[in-house]
Amino acid sequence: MQSDTPPDIDSAEGVSTRGLDFIRQIVVEDRQAGKNEGRVHTRFPPEPNGYLHIGHAKAICLAFGLADEHDGLCNLRMDDTNPTTESVEYVRAIKDDVRWLGFDWGDRFFYASDYFDQLHAFAVQLVEAGRAYVCDLRGPDVGEYRGMWNRPGRNSPYRDRSVEENLDLFARMRAGEFEDGSRTLRAKIDMASPNMNMRDPTIYRIRRVPHYRTGDAWCIYPMYDFTHPLSDALEGITHSLCTLEFEDHRPLYDWFLRNIDVPCQPRQIEFARLNLSHTVLSKRKLLQLVEQGHVAGWDDPRMPTIVGFRRRGYTPEAVRDFCDRIGIAKANSIVSVAQLEDAVRQDLNKRALRVMGVLRPLKLVIENYPEGQVEQVEAVNNPEDESMGSREVPFSRELYIERTDFHEDPPKKYFRLAPGREVRLRYAYFITCREVVKDPQTGEVIELRCTYDPETRGGYAPDGRKVRGTIHWVSAAHAVEAEVRLYDHLFATINPEDVDEGGDYTDALNPASLETLRGCRVEPSLAGAQAGSRYQFERQGYVCVDPDSTKDRLVINRTVTLRDTWAKIEKARAGRQ
Ligand code: ATP
Ligand code: MG
Repeated sequence: MQSDTPPDIDSAEGVSTRGLDFIRQIVVEDRQAGKNEGRVHTRFPPEPNGYLHIGHAKAICLAFGLADEHDGLCNLRMDDTNPTTESVEYVRAIKDDVRWLGFDWGDRFFYASDYFDQLHAFAVQLVEAGRAYVCDLRGPDVGEYRGMWNRPGRNSPYRDRSVEENLDLFARMRAGEFEDGSRTLRAKIDMASPNMNMRDPTIYRIRRVPHYRTGDAWCIYPMYDFTHPLSDALEGITHSLCTLEFEDHRPLYDWFLRNIDVPCQPRQIEFARLNLSHTVLSKRKLLQLVEQGHVAGWDDPRMPTIVGFRRRGYTPEAVRDFCDRIGIAKANSIVSVAQLEDAVRQDLNKRALRVMGVLRPLKLVIENYPEGQVEQVEAVNNPEDESMGSREVPFSRELYIERTDFHEDPPKKYFRLAPGREVRLRYAYFITCREVVKDPQTGEVIELRCTYDPETRGGYAPDGRKVRGTIHWVSAAHAVEAEVRLYDHLFATINPEDVDEGGDYTDALNPASLETLRGCRVEPSLAGAQAGSRYQFERQGYVCVDPDSTKDRLVINRTVTLRDTWAKIEKARAGRQ
């Protein structure tokens, strides 16, 4: 752990690296050493084969954030060299998501596929220099010649073809003369290298399929390991940040930059990818969840995708704050989703309007309140921020309260409503429960008959009498009906990838991850609320209006509860043990 952290340096220029993560330290040192004329230029290079998730958000915050801190630049580049999985839908979504997170690539939006001509020319350069050859080995033989991590490979029988023959064959590969998989262009490096990536890696393969952007122009496609360093160099990238699994590819990254005439020498630095508890972060698996119908789509509010977060009501500020808090390290670990939810809570606490919403309504009639009378009570919009003002909420004889706020036979420490007990209706009056009406058939409580004390308007008694419970309510005649969707973790285990043999991560799906409540009642200020509007339902959590809402139908997502209920469950469990 210690060895990853270079000692602080306080240079003559007075820039301290104290408190910076190891990548930020490297960048400061590189600038002090005058590398790249002091420029900092990063890039975020997603493959447009899926929607971005919270792991990508970490990489985006790092790449764009770092550039920002050094008055540098950050490019957005579609790493689109695989013709079979990519689409313009994903390209559009990626741009939307990066923008939503609050970052700006200016006029530097690029496609690796725009470099196909240039990359092809680079490959020809390698062939001409005797550093690449056309190999006729096919699938299983390639593996056989490649060896194992503990056993060196053997040279391909085609390795010593002449430059002329290689140029001719490579040209014919490009012209479409050979079938898929029959030949490849390989870098001539070292079949005995302990690093498998250096054992004459493939540079080009034949794939006679159209590409979503270049159409039928190409039937050979460059490999990622070849494309990536050269795209970086073409764009003048100084620091190419990627995740740890590319550490073993770095010698190859550097080999291409050394052996091809490029305008710039970017430096690849790897950091630990983000793993989040109770979910999976792999586009392939997320796509499976969508395709197999485990979720409603990429933007299902349970998904760890940026579009899912947005729909659920997370804010870009909260996501960025979370990325800041988890920091950048060199060791892989799993971050608890509770940390993310906590960042969301903290942010929404500052900005969300408080409103009253009843999720599971129970009718309450105030017998001594005049029939037909309506009065407006004043309710605070956000106690954290006075400038957000207040609003008027209608109060009347018939109300709805939360079913869980009444208990016929209250347990100890239950201070809410019970027969004969007095509680405060938030912002309104003290009420006392006089009678419980039940369904004669089922015995279910269907209505409470109460009285109110007209002297307690605003929720305080002039005689100083106290009540221990305060509950929320809505006026039955004025309330808006809503559907409220409550979410829980998509997976029931911390690490869904950790499954028994023969199992599958989908085994860990949480069957109770979505609970839909219909017939909820919310205060009238929510009538006509726009999709994306965020509120706090007092005592129930932060919520966000779902785009499924229409003029006559209000659909609400619960973004997050007010407190980390899982922590409470964990604590209770620990207490029992
Ligand atoms: P996935 O495994 O989800 O398919 P990927 O790495 O194949 O992700 P890319 O589109 O290639 O997806 O990723 C673009 C960038 O985002 C890469 O630089 C990659 O290192 C980074 N990235 C991807 N997943 C994570 C993660 N979980 N944490 C941090 N960075 C990530
Ligand atoms: Mg990738």
